[in-house]
Amino acid sequence: MEAVKATAEGAKAINATQVKAFGTEAAEAPLQELNINRRNPKPHDVAIEILYCGVCHSDLHTARNEWHSTIYPCVPGHEIVGKVVSVGNHVSKFKVGDLAAVGCMVDSCRECQYCKEGLEQYCEEGNTGTYNSPDKHLGTQTHGGYSESIVVDEAFVLRVPENLDLAATAPLLCAGITTYSPLKHWHVGPGQKVGVVGLGGLGHMAVKIAKAMGADVIVFTTSPSKVEDAKRLGADDVVLSKDEEQMRRYAGKLHFVLDAVSAQHDINAYLNLLRVDGSLALVGAPEQPLPVAAFSLIPYRRSFAGSMIGGIAETQEMLDFCGKHNIVSDIEMINIQQINEAYERLLKGDVKYRFVIDMASLKNEDTKQA
Ligand SMILES: [Zn+2]
Ligand SMILES: [Zn+2]
Repeated sequence: MEAVKATAEGAKAINATQVKAFGTEAAEAPLQELNINRRNPKPHDVAIEILYCGVCHSDLHTARNEWHSTIYPCVPGHEIVGKVVSVGNHVSKFKVGDLAAVGCMVDSCRECQYCKEGLEQYCEEGNTGTYNSPDKHLGTQTHGGYSESIVVDEAFVLRVPENLDLAATAPLLCAGITTYSPLKHWHVGPGQKVGVVGLGGLGHMAVKIAKAMGADVIVFTTSPSKVEDAKRLGADDVVLSKDEEQMRRYAGKLHFVLDAVSAQHDINAYLNLLRVDGSLALVGAPEQPLPVAAFSLIPYRRSFAGSMIGGIAETQEMLDFCGKHNIVSDIEMINIQQINEAYERLLKGDVKYRFVIDMASLKNEDTKQA
């Protein structure tokens, strides 16, 4: 057991309980067991025992300070599902024993134009991330789902459809909403051809969701080994993006393209697949700028856009949609003690298609071995 610094300081931390978590004290250090504080539930709070937590690439970026903004100790995890264990006396949406989920945000200003429109992810003050954001209650940084429990205002807690596999539901909270929101925003539906670029954690969810929305889905991948899998996931066609002949088949044909690739790639090759008024939205985030040729956009009045997760109401809508269409993530379950090894595999793209941590493993005796 490692004591957490900082959190015990200041009056703000008095009404808190120490819980077990898995995180890291430094960018180069492996994740290991540590203790963190969770505030005792306030009138609008829901306390959740975490059963499963998905592993998002952002977890790794943050744990290793690759975005240069990590505050340590860092406890990642924003694909959280669990069971309500207590509620504050003003909570109306949840009761003890309910299933509940938490995604990428745990709060926002709730007053700006975007919060009022249900676009909390774009809050003018900046939303409060589930981890590595200023914690308004404890005065420290927020800690994510690699832990035994979390306390969140009910306004940011989601209901979980009863019919879905609970572990495979966890990745919907980030990978699911990150793809659902742009597909919805750009009105993807029947009679449309939609391209999904990159078949990883995000891409495989985009295929399932776009298909359920009624679109024809074409997957673009650099890996011949992914062709069969893309079809199994529901793709109507799969194009090897390095094959110019295959790419030409869809020139000017697609209504919408969702680009989930975070490596450098030629964006013009995909813009040129859009029909008149078509849009391409980025959800992957390459490190370097992507050069866009003006004539990839001008002749067909095309749009080049981006999108970030989704609002709370929209996240609930996505979960309900997935419940109705029986959509979950393809997952590989791990114990928390395997997280460092899972990160190494994530870097190699060696997962189909999301790691999910069985948080019961945090209760295991010897949790320090990675
Ligand atoms: Zn994420
Ligand atoms: Zn706001």
